[in-house]
Amino acid sequence: MRQVIIIGSGPAGLTAALYAARANLSPLLIEGLESGGQLMLTTAVENYPGFRDGIMGPDLMAEMRAQAARFGTEFVTGDVTGVELTQPPFTVTTSDTAWRGRSLIIATGASARLLGLPSERALMGHGVSTCATCDGYFFRDKPIAVVGGGDSAMEEATFLTKFASHVTVVHRRDTLRASKIMQEKAFRNPKISFEWDAAVHDITDTGKGVVDGIVLRNLKTGALKSLAVEGVFVAIGHTPNTGLFKGQVELDANGYIVPRGGARTSAAGVFAAGDVQDHVYRQAITAAGSGCMAAIDAERYLESLPESDAAAEDAAAPSAVTS
Ligand code: NAP
Repeated sequence: MRQVIIIGSGPAGLTAALYAARANLSPLLIEGLESGGQLMLTTAVENYPGFRDGIMGPDLMAEMRAQAARFGTEFVTGDVTGVELTQPPFTVTTSDTAWRGRSLIIATGASARLLGLPSERALMGHGVSTCATCDGYFFRDKPIAVVGGGDSAMEEATFLTKFASHVTVVHRRDTLRASKIMQEKAFRNPKISFEWDAAVHDITDTGKGVVDGIVLRNLKTGALKSLAVEGVFVAIGHTPNTGLFKGQVELDANGYIVPRGGARTSAAGVFAAGDVQDHVYRQAITAAGSGCMAAIDAERYLESLPESDAAAEDAAAPSAVTS
């Protein structure tokens, strides 16, 4: 029987593990086969406090993982295939093992939706980005493109005009999905122009792995057109990784876990941290902060349980059943 099981190994999960380990809760952290979360897709991170000269995203995650391990976090690698959260002890299943825990911290994050182009994947972190707040600063006085027509795309385009020489919004239709107020702000901005009915056909590079343009395809005429840009911000939405929890923890209309004060969720003993419950801030530092909150909330929850419950649960279940 585990005191705390954490699912997810981004900044939220690793910070939860660090705090839970230092509270002597011997956490078990299940990291997916693609561990480390969204920071593994970035290059330099310059806005994580404590790193004056910046740090590479994968290096930051390696540091966080080592710090959580130092205090006794046990790591298991494997994608979680099922959870049973009706009542504690909860069961978390990977391909070959069923783990049982008195409390659970969900830190499975969200995935930025991508266009699906091979060049987009190859140039991610080298001119292609999914986070304007994180990477806008690298594009001072450079022309860039933002893909998407929703609130995120308008917000990112407007924000990026602080740095870029020009921002071209590429949208697949001729009307925006964004709220009127965000649309009007973007229309009024002299540094923003629009390419309507356009899809990104390809992202081109100089041959040195640095973006130098995009090829647009007009979706009405099929015509191709090149645009010289040095950055491409893909802002076509995010998908929270909550499929496993549907029907067991309250989710909002977009699939995000609904917080119930602090890191609590609708299920007692189940806590959520990071982008899986936050579609607003989506930063490494806010994810880490909420991971800390989840560990403290889990610790307090465990302390509040009558000792008789814990003894009964211990007697009832082995901590892991391997098939
Ligand atoms: P969204 O509203 O789902 O918009 C996604 C945009 O990307 C749409 O314009 C969509 O085109 C386009 N798109 C989707 N898949 C595409 C693809 N494969 N290729 C090209 N374009 C594609 O997502 P979001 O903008 O991230 O917003 C998510 C939620 O957060 C919304 O409820 C939004 O209001 C909210 N939000 C609010 C604020 C704010 O108030 N400050 C800021 C950001 C987000 P179509 O329009 O053709 O479908």
